[in-house]
Amino acid sequence: MKEPLTFALAKGRLLDETLPLLHLLGIEPVEPLTGSRKLMFETNRPDVRLLVLRATDVPPYVERGGAHLGIAGKDTLMEYDSDGLCEPVDLGLSKCRLMTATRVGATLPDTGRITVATKYVNVARRYFASKGRQIDPIKLYGAMELAPLVGLSDVIVDVVDTGNTLKANGLEPRELIAHSSARLVVSRVAMKTRYQQIAPIISQLQQWADTNACH
Ligand code: AMP
Repeated sequence: MKEPLTFALAKGRLLDETLPLLHLLGIEPVEPLTGSRKLMFETNRPDVRLLVLRATDVPPYVERGGAHLGIAGKDTLMEYDSDGLCEPVDLGLSKCRLMTATRVGATLPDTGRITVATKYVNVARRYFASKGRQIDPIKLYGAMELAPLVGLSDVIVDVVDTGNTLKANGLEPRELIAHSSARLVVSRVAMKTRYQQIAPIISQLQQWADTNACH
């Protein structure tokens, strides 16, 4: 039998929002996806299995054939920046904004390099280059908000939802880099080799996205 269609999901806040979509697709995991150390799950459909990965690992798994398709935030996809992936459906979930932020009232030097703390180093580099600024990026994996407060960086680039986290840490949003939301992501290879299995998933999710009231 052909290897099951492998669907990569991001753990964390996006996973909770993804579960109703799986249900809609008639895909039911045979055991709960959260609360265990397992990473691969069988489903009620013998032709479909699920991987539960770190959000940033979804694009490389899908691109390199570890999974055929997945769900990932646009922020993560922008940072990964691959030609090997297509994004057939904007699911409109997990909406947020990729923004620059500084200490409240801080002024940035007009010229010269600025130091940017972020987990989105590629996004930051491209954004500031488009403004004619070179940056010294500092790659962090969390607690970006602290960096300007302790003098580690001039600016951070991070995703912002309500802005409460910035505010609670004496920072303010400055420039909008991009809007983000969760996307169905499919490798270009799987789009060809697994088209029969993937096409109905795309059309069901597109239909759901089109009719979902919160868009
Ligand atoms: P907020 O305080 O509502 O602006 O949320 C900001 C915090 O939540 C930051 O630490 C972000 O990294 C994280 N965050 C907000 N929205 C998202 C999202 N859609 N995906 C991932 N992380 C997010």
